[in-house]
Amino acid sequence: MYKKISHIGIAVKDINASSKFYTECLGWVSEGVEEVLDQKVKVCFFTIGESRIELVEPTDENSGVYKFLEERGFKDTVHHIAYEVENIEKELENLKLKGVRLIDEKPRKGAHGMKIAFIHPKSSNGVLVEICEPENK
Ligand code: ZN
Repeated sequence: MYKKISHIGIAVKDINASSKFYTECLGWVSEGVEEVLDQKVKVCFFTIGESRIELVEPTDENSGVYKFLEERGFKDTVHHIAYEVENIEKELENLKLKGVRLIDEKPRKGAHGMKIAFIHPKSSNGVLVEICEPENK
């Protein structure tokens, strides 16, 4: 079951520089920068109502996010939309049964201990979709 939009991920070249718009202009409070080694990125979350904004900075030129930014002239760009699900393993099974192409066949560990998986944009008309299940529901 899909519960809500968990967050919108924005790819950025420099997480500290980009954070300033949210903290200084919008007055939001950063939840701190966390490195996700697995994905070769640093992330920073801001909570806004029921949803969150995730800034994602690649830490390695081999990171998919680096290539994404490179193709867009290193301008901050919406990268993915994440939907919170009740049971990520069950949703991945459902998607596999429907022939949906997955980047992650099994959930992996994202920031804040969340279980996450990405759906291949070829199966979602070009939009990168993440599904996630928080650790503490
Ligand atoms: Zn995300």
